[in-house]
Amino acid sequence: STPSPSMKKKLEGKVGIITGGASGIGEATALHFATHGARAIVIADIQDEKGEKLAASIGPGLCKYVRCDVSKEDQIKALVQATIQLYGQLDIMFCNAGIMSKSEQKILDLDLDKYDKLFTINVRGMAACVKHAARAMVEGKVKGSIICTASAIASVGTEEYTDYTMSKHAVVGLVRCASRQLGKHGVRVNCVSPGAVGTPMVLDLFGIGSDELERLFERKFCLGRMLKVNHVADAVVFLASEESEFITGHNLAVDGGYRH
Ligand code: NAD
Repeated sequence: STPSPSMKKKLEGKVGIITGGASGIGEATALHFATHGARAIVIADIQDEKGEKLAASIGPGLCKYVRCDVSKEDQIKALVQATIQLYGQLDIMFCNAGIMSKSEQKILDLDLDKYDKLFTINVRGMAACVKHAARAMVEGKVKGSIICTASAIASVGTEEYTDYTMSKHAVVGLVRCASRQLGKHGVRVNCVSPGAVGTPMVLDLFGIGSDELERLFERKFCLGRMLKVNHVADAVVFLASEESEFITGHNLAVDGGYRH
């Protein structure tokens, strides 16, 4: 939703980082952060060209792209340090970078090399992002908000994607632990759990276009229509803003009543 000019914008004055910010849900959220009045947005990703282009389109004074591979802790530390150096503080950390294995991962044939790669990004990377953002917020005495991207399949099993499903369950566990430990510092930690949405990650996996994905998936949503990245970005803005100031440790489903 676009705020009217007279209203205080939801993210006015806030500085936020978005990992996996160059594409899909992260990209939509970067645009929403700008609409809702963020002071600075740092897009962190490994797709340099896409990230630079998006940052330039949002505006060089407002948005900056920083290359950061979340499987490397030193790069996450440097990302947070660069943000503090440039903008003085960190208010919002959207830990969103994630991958799926490019094929099914059924337990009888589980490829453990693929599993390791996925866990390094989806779980270890996520924990490292929460760690370094939380340190900056606690040290800076900022009542920050950390949001992690889990999934509708963070609370149910799947037939096909054992490693991915496990990794998203772990994200919910991370959020529950971090919210308990950081609450006394005024730092909130929540996750969003989107249903299937037509981003490059999912379209690549299925090898189809967004229209076909929509035909396959729209009936899975109780609302009878397809989830869009903007719906997820709206929920992230809510969790990042003071509108959710008494919400922590929560897993917010953005799934139109997804039928698993
Ligand atoms: P996407 O592929 O469009 O975006 C993911 C981004 O993460 C990409 O820009 C990619 O370059 C980046 N990335 C991948 N590995 C990285 C790394 N090591 N370091 C830094 N960045 C890295 O996909 P998306 O659907 O927007 O995914 C965003 C998040 O949403 C993921 O955590 C995904 O698991 C989750 N999710 C997606 C869906 C869906 O249906 N699309 C549903 C539920 C949850």
